[in-house]
Amino acid sequence: MTATVPTNPPRKPDLIVLRDPAVAAPPLVDSFQRRITYLRLSVTDRCDLRCSYCMPERMTFLPKKEVLTLEELYDLATGFISRGVTKIRITGGEPLVRRDIIDLFTALGRRLGHDLAELTLTTNGTQLAEHAEALARAGVRRVNVSLDTLDRAKFAELTRRDALPQVLEGIAAAKAAGLKVKLNAVALKGVNEGELPDLIAWAHGHGHDVTLIEVMPLGDVEEERLDQYLPLDDVRSALEQRWTLTDNAYATGGPARYVDVAETGGRLGFITPHTNNFCAGCNRLRVTATGQLYPCLGGGERVDLRSALRSDAPEANLVTALDEALRIKPEKHHFRMDARGADPALPRHMSMTGG
Ligand code: SAM
Ligand code: SF4
Repeated sequence: MTATVPTNPPRKPDLIVLRDPAVAAPPLVDSFQRRITYLRLSVTDRCDLRCSYCMPERMTFLPKKEVLTLEELYDLATGFISRGVTKIRITGGEPLVRRDIIDLFTALGRRLGHDLAELTLTTNGTQLAEHAEALARAGVRRVNVSLDTLDRAKFAELTRRDALPQVLEGIAAAKAAGLKVKLNAVALKGVNEGELPDLIAWAHGHGHDVTLIEVMPLGDVEEERLDQYLPLDDVRSALEQRWTLTDNAYATGGPARYVDVAETGGRLGFITPHTNNFCAGCNRLRVTATGQLYPCLGGGERVDLRSALRSDAPEANLVTALDEALRIKPEKHHFRMDARGADPALPRHMSMTGG
């Protein structure tokens, strides 16, 4: 049933390819006729930062034995690729804190130009200086780096770690390694609200696109969500007082809508789960580091792929599990941001599903 993927020495056992010719399955199309071509694969729930909108300082992480091995993550990715997924984004928690994660990039990278079109990464950037060249060698061409502020003290307060210099070094290293860097910033009321134009201008000046994100009510954090929430419609109006924004048809198949900023010459995206629903074009599925598939970031539906993967007939059971995910993928998310003191819309943190 299995074959091995050749890898560069020295290294641990090779990653195993799931390949049972008896199991063939159709492309992934959900019950709303949306074709799924994009997988967001979380490789760890752990992180070296503690962003206040993402997780509490005393976060409880999963026991390591519950997390899929790199071999299992590769097998899982193979199951998705065999059903027409052409783009994989590795995420977390912080993916670069996982030991030997470059092995997974290297193995998946070998499929680029064959049955995989793009392999990307979302990272907080703290370990990027160390790994940028290896990522580029593996075939990664674009990375998303999360950066909410350029103010060191504010960064330390927001992420509860004094790591801004490391992150800036990581971004510079990624650029030097030839990676296209896009910055993601969560817009936070009273925190980075006044700084967003400077952040955007800085990013565009360095050749990086920026996407702004509305905060989502995922998991318990120590702060009141409604106090963090800044509607991007308001941000856009404020930016329009200062700059000329022109709608841009650029589409990544994702939820962001883009504008060009005439004065900076850069592109700016808006991810607006609250002020605009973007679910009709959803082309993605998300899998946690323990192999739990969440068909919708904003829904509680879940399919356990780990037990399929660890069963006696992994290929066949994976096909069945993915069919179930397609069947239950909801039409749209149901995030709401209108109740002060409300429980989180969903108990799981963004660090489980990787955004
Ligand atoms: N650690 C990596 C990082 O920060 O880029 C990858 C995982 S992180 C969960 C992915 C993205 O989710 C980041 O851009 C982060 O800012 C965003 N995020 C985390 N919690 C969020 C929330 N409650 N609402 C909106 N975005 C959130
Ligand atoms: Fe870590 Fe990313 Fe969550 Fe920040 S947003 S705590 S960097 S997982």
